[in-house]
Formats: sequence, structure tokens, C-alpha cells
Amino acid sequence: MAPMHNAMKLPRLFRPKLRRLAGLLPTVSLVLLLAACSSYSPDQLKIDRSIQAKSQDSRVEFIVLHYTSTGNHASLKILSEQNVSSHYLITDDARPHVYQLVDESRRAWHAGVSQWYGRTDMNAGSIGIELVNQGGSKQNWAPYSPTQIRTLIALLHDVIKRHQIKPYNIVGHSDIAPQRKVDPGPLFPWKKLADAGIGRWYKQTKVDEFLLEFQRTGLPDILAVQTELERLGYAVPKNGLLDKATRNVIAAFQMHYRPARYDGVPDAQTAAILKALR
Ligand SMILES: [Zn+2]
Repeated sequence: MAPMHNAMKLPRLFRPKLRRLAGLLPTVSLVLLLAACSSYSPDQLKIDRSIQAKSQDSRVEFIVLHYTSTGNHASLKILSEQNVSSHYLITDDARPHVYQLVDESRRAWHAGVSQWYGRTDMNAGSIGIELVNQGGSKQNWAPYSPTQIRTLIALLHDVIKRHQIKPYNIVGHSDIAPQRKVDPGPLFPWKKLADAGIGRWYKQTKVDEFLLEFQRTGLPDILAVQTELERLGYAVPKNGLLDKATRNVIAAFQMHYRPARYDGVPDAQTAAILKALR
């Protein structure tokens, strides 16, 4: 603004020339800017981190638990050398060894095609923890040692605290991919974790209340069960049919919250736990 102000005081004769100069101003600024840039070197880049914004939180929102279905040596080799990985690996040694294979700020490749509360890119926002455990099938599953679970609990407390992870976002691979996965399996002690203050659990008194209610009113229909599963985060069909996909989701839910039977049948206890979970 200053040059135009001064122009008012100049004789009329000079004004058109000044107007032309004013028109050139953007060009002049660009030239000056380029001149400044030419003396700038990226080596001089300085970032001031002394002030941190109040409004921020962790990019990590979920923890996904897995079993490796193989031994210590093979698990470590696969998770560090192949196109699959996890942030942490806990061995099944008498004194479990905890490896960190991927930095928490980076994405590990452990979730695959999965979904939780509508979120699909689970690798992007989660920490993956693999437990060395042989897994199993049908009624033949490898148990987890108490020491390995205690180690996991210590690790979980640390990760949860640092990233402020919500209890309902601590899940098993089977919860987020019930059509493909069963790990960490029905012997994984979710209740023990809940007793240590980790993850989502239900009040038994609430379950008993709903069991009595079902005795009076009958069991909820399949669509109601599907709606409850969806409310709790699961990706489930909403067709009112007890089809294969729905049974897989119910079985995943049972493995997590009622592992005594995980046949995918929505019995009274399953329906009551579903309703009791908040
Ligand atoms: Zn898994």
C-alpha cells in the first residue's frame, strides 16, 4: 500500500509510469523470492518442535491379538522375513521373550481383510500382537501358559496406556475376520484379561437378568441377534437368516465371551451375553 500512497503526492506526469511499475510488482516479488530460494539449502531446514498442539491423539485405536500356529523359531522367521508381520511377538518359552518387530508408529501386516465397527483398514490403526501357540481345530487346542499370558497382560497395560485404547477395541483376529480366522482361539483367556482390567466384558448379574427375561418372552430372533452383533462391532449379515456367515460370526463371539461352546448357535446364554455387553 505504501507506494500508492506516495504516488498521490507526485506530479500528474509521473503517475502512469508508477501504475506500470505497480503492475510489475508481482513479477518483482517473484524474482526476489527466487533469489532468496537460490541461496536456500535443504541442509538448513530447521523444524521447531518446542510447541506441541493440545488437540491430538494417537493414530493407534485397536489392538489385535493372534496366535502364530507354529513354534518360536518359525514364528520369528515368518513374521520378520515374509510378507506378514506384527508389532510384537511373545514366545512360549518358560521365560517368554517379547520381540518388537515393527515400530508402533508404522504399519505391521497382520490383520488382512477385516472389519471392526465399520473400519476396514485395520492394519493402519492397530497394534498387532502375536503369541506363539500351536492353535488347533475342533476340540483340540493348545493351551496358553500362565507366564505367557502374564507377559501379554504387562505388554497390553503399557500399550493401552500410551495409546489410550478403548476396551471394546481390544480384539482377536477372529473378531475382525470371523469368516477366515479363529485365532487366538477358544482357549485364549479373555476373562483373565478382563479381570486384569483389559478389554470389554459383561456383568454376570445382567446376563442372569436377561436369561430370566428370555424364559418369559422366548429367544430373540436371528435379525435381533445380528443387530446386537453389529452394535458390538462385528461385520455380520443383516438378513434374519442363520446362514454360514452368521454362524461364523456367532462362533467368533462365543470364542471370545463364552468359549465353553462355540458352535455358532445363538442359544439363550449367547443372546443374554450379547444383550448384557455395553
Ligand atoms: Zn491372526
